[in-house]
Amino acid sequence: MASRVLIAQFMHETNTFSRLPTTLEDYRRQRLVEGEAIVPHFAGTRNELGGFIDAAEKHGWEPVWGVAANTTPSGRLTREAWEHIRDLILEAARKAGRIDAVCLSLHGAMVSETEDDAEGALLEAVRGVVGPDVPVVATLDLHANATARMARHANALVSYRTYPHIDGYERAVQAAQLVEDALRGHKQPRCLLVQPAMLKGADHGRTTQPGIMRDLLARAEAFEKQPGLHAVSIQVGFTWSDIPWAGPSIAVSHEPGAEATAAHAAEALIAEMWSRRTEFSSSYRSIDEAVAAARSGGDRPLVLAEGTDNPGGGGYNDAPNLLRALLDAGIPGVAVGTILDPGTVQQAMDAGVGARIDVALGGHTDPSLGAPVQATAEVRHLSDGTFRNDGPMNAGVQISLGPTAVLRLGGIDVVTTSTRMHTIDLQVFLSQGIDPHTRNVVVVKSSQHFRAAFEPIAREVMLVDAGGLCSTDASRFQYTRLRRPIWPLDHIDRP
Ligand SMILES: [Zn+2]
Repeated sequence: MASRVLIAQFMHETNTFSRLPTTLEDYRRQRLVEGEAIVPHFAGTRNELGGFIDAAEKHGWEPVWGVAANTTPSGRLTREAWEHIRDLILEAARKAGRIDAVCLSLHGAMVSETEDDAEGALLEAVRGVVGPDVPVVATLDLHANATARMARHANALVSYRTYPHIDGYERAVQAAQLVEDALRGHKQPRCLLVQPAMLKGADHGRTTQPGIMRDLLARAEAFEKQPGLHAVSIQVGFTWSDIPWAGPSIAVSHEPGAEATAAHAAEALIAEMWSRRTEFSSSYRSIDEAVAAARSGGDRPLVLAEGTDNPGGGGYNDAPNLLRALLDAGIPGVAVGTILDPGTVQQAMDAGVGARIDVALGGHTDPSLGAPVQATAEVRHLSDGTFRNDGPMNAGVQISLGPTAVLRLGGIDVVTTSTRMHTIDLQVFLSQGIDPHTRNVVVVKSSQHFRAAFEPIAREVMLVDAGGLCSTDASRFQYTRLRRPIWPLDHIDRP
């Protein structure tokens, strides 16, 4: 008899400092795919669901499809969004009658109005439906704020090992193999989670250059070869979340009896994370430095990444200060992707391609971070903003920026959107009639993920702090629920 395996995805990276709640409508606009429709949507993609689809076929499972839900990082999920999507998963499990195993694709830093540890609550609820003996595995983002509650109700937590995250498919295949081994009685995994008194660490998980995160991952993979240990996962945490468990953690799935080996592996990784806690590779430059670099031309684009306005971390995606500075400096050949401004997009749609309109662009979500750019703009291109990623990250997945207008201000083309979305793929520009290869300067709203697609075309990459919500200075935020004492906010001698 084929194993019946519940497969679902429920993802969100919640920035609790954001003033924007995350609604069910946000999920409906970006990704809320129910039941069997998941298969045509994700088959052949490098997403976790693409991995689970292939694994189900390989292992001869009878999949029970729950839901695939994901939307851009923002504030806490409304109670409605959280309960509706949670219940779609629980209902699918209940309706199936018998469930032999569960494969979930989660983020691990989701917070709702009612649950500080939403994935822990979800796993506990799933466990309540399927019972204590059914293998339950979850893939996580490496920026998960993982908790002991998640580990208690899952048999394994398997996190990304790349940042930019380009191994969702591989991690799902790994997690599914563990499930298959458990179903065949070859393994009885259970999960240990250890968390140090650190709010951040391991260079925020960057794997694009040699350094602490790559060293930790190499050690984790060596630990996985020890008898009794399965997946050894490193989560570096998500700083912009005022919950007790924000910060790095180590999850080790292991056999019964290998508790001491698992604990030793976790403690060794944490000791190295602690001793190298000040290693941090990304250095933000000022707007003035960015403009100075933009004045020097080259045969390939300078890529300016506005990491502190990164919607991939909950940034508002409409910080206007860098755009204003480039405009004031008269820099030619610039492409900006993207500025969120649905009102201006509507204005452009009403005026039509070729029209000239007076705009107040960006800066609407929190004007204290920068006022809108006042200018006359030419409408160059209009579209519904949909495209399919063709870069290394989430390849093949369909994306929607919502109604989108390309506006030309001076020498700058701005991809102006209606949905918050970090810039990880060249199609953000190409689908809007802009070839980024030919531009002098390309501005992206991303802190790290952009590197997978944009570093290969860049003459230079520069991270810019143009004044967004996602400052890397943790002391700028008011934490009231975080566990204390914690490094770097408090002085402590050991983790
Ligand atoms: Zn991440």
